[in-house]
Parts: sequence; structure tokens; C-alpha cells
Amino acid sequence: MPWLFASLAFVFPAFVALSPAAPDAPKPEDFVTVQKGTLPIIISAPHGGRKKVPNVPERVGTGLTNFQTVRDENTAELVEKLVAEIEKLLGAKPWVVIARFERKYLDVNRSREQGYESDKAKPYYDAYHDPLAVACKAVKEKHGRGILLDIHGQAAFTGAICRGTQNLKTVKLLKDRDGMAAIRGKNSVLGRLEKLGYKVLPPGDAEETAKEESKFTGGYIVTNYGSHTAFAIDAIQLELGTDLRAKDKYATTAKDLADAVRVFHDAYLKDLK
Ligand SMILES: [Zn+2]
Repeated sequence: MPWLFASLAFVFPAFVALSPAAPDAPKPEDFVTVQKGTLPIIISAPHGGRKKVPNVPERVGTGLTNFQTVRDENTAELVEKLVAEIEKLLGAKPWVVIARFERKYLDVNRSREQGYESDKAKPYYDAYHDPLAVACKAVKEKHGRGILLDIHGQAAFTGAICRGTQNLKTVKLLKDRDGMAAIRGKNSVLGRLEKLGYKVLPPGDAEETAKEESKFTGGYIVTNYGSHTAFAIDAIQLELGTDLRAKDKYATTAKDLADAVRVFHDAYLKDLK
């Protein structure tokens, strides 16, 4: 009976405050886009959110050495496009977790201790990591293995894509099983992108021992879920340069990345159940 509620609220404003579950109460799960998948592929985008988190102050980062609050511009939108393209190419769904909250309130690519400063941000941190952990466990259980791509943006190498695997630690199982070819060869995600004309760092013709760009070796997400951990999912952080995320460019980048995921899937993941 909405009319009754409305008239009561008009006569007794306190009635509104007393009514349970106010419709505008923020729900942390509304600040994260989650999709359950059927493929052994997980896509994560922690730094592209645009929403203010109510009742949570902006972080100040006292004592932190790698403190960042800036958005990875257009990465949430790029990943939406990427997911749609993967579904088109492979006819099945990847697992997806996209942050919609602004990084200045919490950073889910940092440990819990470094990722937020107010206890009120904890439910938002969990709203990102709970479904990501569920995805990793489900992929491992169903397929035995899988790949996690953690999508970011950087402004240091504007036309390039930086690989972050903690210098191959977070893709340990993939490397042990299929060698460097699965990480940098023609049917790898990065090798395919290079073939499509993208500049990739470190470059493909470099030695296996070539070090990743020191600022982009991979953050908490690949470190926590990578195949050197009990989650055992091969995890690659992809840092896309500013030019590749421009408003008129990110859809093309997403399409090419989806093609690279398809090539990798067909070479290394297709035979999994
Ligand atoms: Zn980032």
C-alpha cells in the first residue's frame, strides 16, 4: 500500500526513518559487477570504478610506499567490451569481477591491511575478493586449472602493454607445463597481442630471464591468486598504456585482447573439461 506509506510519511516524517531497509541504503555488492562463468577464464578489473562510496573517507596512505588513488581510466568499460567479445568468440562465459567503487576509497589490488583505512570500507573489499576467490576455486575444481587476467592501466609507457607476473612466479604452473611459449609464444595472450601490432614489455624476443618493468610486476591480486599459491590459477596482470584506453580506442583494444584470449584458449585450455 504505497499510498498509505506515503501519507504516513507525510504526516509523520519519523515513520520513514523507522521503516526497515531504507531503499537507498548502500549495498556493497551493488558496487561490484560479478558474472559467474563456464570457461576456465577469469577477468578482474579493480581500478576502473567511478562510484563514490558513501560514509567512507578518502584514503590518505600514511606510511605506505606504493600508495595510489587514481583511477585506471576506462578499464571497467574496456573489460565490459572484452567480456562481450570473448562470449561472442568462444560461445561461453568467462568469470568476471569489475570494481565500480573509486580507488580513492579502497584499493582491492592491495592486501587487506593496505587496501583500506576505515572499517566501513571492509564490506566493499570483501564484495570484490569473495567472488574472485569463488571464481578461482570453481575454475580449479571444474577444469583443474585456468587463467586470471587482471586488467589495469598505466601512463609510463603510453602505447605499450606491461606484463606483471612477479617475473613469472604467478604463472608457475603454466610455465612448468607448457614452457615460455604459453606466456610469450605466438599462441600466448601477449604473443598474440604483439602479432596484432601491440608493443609488449618485456618484448617477446627477450631472454626468458628478462625482467618485467619494476613498477608493473604485478600487485596483490596476481600475487594472492597466482599459480604459485593454493588457488593455483595462472595469473597475469596486464597494464594497458594510456593510448590503448583512450575513449575512441579502448573498444578496439578490447576486441584484440579478446582475440588473444581466444587464441590462448584454443591452444592451451580447449581440451579441459
Ligand atoms: Zn591498476
